[in-house]
Amino acid sequence: MSVLDRYLDRFPFFKKIFKPFLVVAPYVLMSGQTVAYPTERPIFHDRFRGRHKFYFDRCISCNTCARVCPCKSITLVEVEGREGKFPEIDYQTCSFCGYCVEFCPKLALEFTDFVEFSEVDRSKLVYSPEQLTEVPDLKEVLPMLKRRTERYLTDKEIKYRKVSDV
Ligand code: SF4
Ligand code: SF4
Repeated sequence: MSVLDRYLDRFPFFKKIFKPFLVVAPYVLMSGQTVAYPTERPIFHDRFRGRHKFYFDRCISCNTCARVCPCKSITLVEVEGREGKFPEIDYQTCSFCGYCVEFCPKLALEFTDFVEFSEVDRSKLVYSPEQLTEVPDLKEVLPMLKRRTERYLTDKEIKYRKVSDV
């Protein structure tokens, strides 16, 4: 038992109030557990599931992605000037489970680390195949972004370090 604990034991009421602060304070003072988004943005893990990217030239319109999707978020639609049907993804319901990417026999769908695609109008969350081929440049959507940071683990905690200027 520390000296502080012994001291606080004499004042149970204050101990009850201040003990949680004393436990948390060293962690708050010693190490930042967050990044200053949007001026700073973590580099996500390779297997991170952000918005999809779609490749027309690989797709064989087999419909597997739509069949395996547990959320019924994929519909195959026609695209002007192209033969066959291609996936349209409804991000109102997509749970980012990854089945469509995993089961696509031609690797025509993949995940990116792009997460900045919230909308006020829900209907804009339905992405056509053409929209899915384009993943915006981070600098366009986050003009204030200055640094990319990497997350790493120590024995006790997760920390962040600056990796590059943007
Ligand atoms: S990630 Fe999962 S929920 Fe989202 S479209 Fe693919 S299969 Fe459906
Ligand atoms: S994206 Fe893949 S699974 Fe979906 S229709 Fe095209 S080839 Fe088939």
